[in-house]
Amino acid sequence: MPQIGWLDPSKGTERTFDKWLALAAKDGEALGFPYEVLAGIRQQLSGEHRPEGITVTQLGGCLRRQLLEGKHEFYGTPASNYAAFRGTVVHAMLESFPHPDAVIEERVWRRYGGAVLSGQIDKMRMLKHSRDDMLAYLEWVRLAHAAEMEDKPLPERPFSHVEFEIEDWKSKDELPTYAYVAKRYVSQGNLYRWLLRIPKGMVHIDFVFVSMKGTRTMSLYEGGNFRNGRTKPDQIWSDSEVKKYLEERFAILDASRRLDRPLAYSNVTEEDLWECQWCSAKPLCYRLAAEEARVAWLAGEKVDRIPPREGEI
Ligand code: SF4
Repeated sequence: MPQIGWLDPSKGTERTFDKWLALAAKDGEALGFPYEVLAGIRQQLSGEHRPEGITVTQLGGCLRRQLLEGKHEFYGTPASNYAAFRGTVVHAMLESFPHPDAVIEERVWRRYGGAVLSGQIDKMRMLKHSRDDMLAYLEWVRLAHAAEMEDKPLPERPFSHVEFEIEDWKSKDELPTYAYVAKRYVSQGNLYRWLLRIPKGMVHIDFVFVSMKGTRTMSLYEGGNFRNGRTKPDQIWSDSEVKKYLEERFAILDASRRLDRPLAYSNVTEEDLWECQWCSAKPLCYRLAAEEARVAWLAGEKVDRIPPREGEI
C-alpha cells in the first residue's frame, strides 16, 4: 500500500496509521478527526486494491500522481483522504438500496494496444430489461475481453438493440450549479461506454451528485435542441474520439509505468494541476520536481514550471 500513515500538516509529524489510531483511541481524536472517522478512512484505504492494468480513475487524474502514489511509500493528511472516505459513504448507500434492475459496482476490462484498461462502474442497467439480462450482458463483456486477450474472435454480442443507462455517483460538498459536467467526467462516462462495448446511440450516461443538502442528476448531452432552440452538444464520444483520448493519456501512463518513471512535473497538463490541492503525493512530487528542474537547468534546458514554494502551497 503506498500510503503508510498520516502526516500532521501543522507540525510535520509523520506516523503510521496504527500509531495515530492508538493516539485517537486514547484521546478520542487525533489530527483533528475523531477516532471513528480516522478508523473509517483507514479501513477504506486498506480496502483499496490496485487492479491489474490502468484504470479509468487513474486516467482522469494527474498522470504523474499515479506513478508516485503507486511506487512510493508516503504519509498523507487525513484531509487529503477525506473525499475518498466521503465517497465510500455514498457508495455504501448505493449498495444498501440498489435499483432492482441494476448491477452495482462491477469492474470491466478491455484491451487497448498492449495494455488493459479497466473501470468500476457504479450502476448500470438495460432499459426495459431485468437485472439478470444485465448480468448476462456483463458475462459477454467478460468473455469478449478474455477472447481479445487470446487474439481470438469475440463472441457474438447479445441484446444488440437494447439501450443502456450508466451512472456514476459523486459525493460533493455543494451540489453543482453549472449546466455542463466537468470534462474529466465526460471522459469517464465515455470510457465506461467503451469498456462496456455499448455502441454510441444506445447509451445514456448520468452523473448523480450527492451532498448533505440533496442530489442532482446531470446527464451527458446527446445532441438535439434545447427548448429555446439552441443546439445541445453531443457529449457521447464515437469510438474514434475514445481512441484519440486513449492515445493522449493512456499511452503516456502506460509508457510511464513500463519505464517505471513518473511523468515529469513540467509535462503535467495545466488541467491536471487542479488536483495538487488534494494530492497525497504532493510533498514527494515537489521534492522530485525541484530535482527535475535542477537537472534540466544544469543541462541548459528551459525550465517552464517549478513547484510552488512552501508558503504558496
Ligand atoms: S502534486 Fe500535483 S502535479 Fe504533483 S503528483 Fe500531485 S497532482 Fe500531480
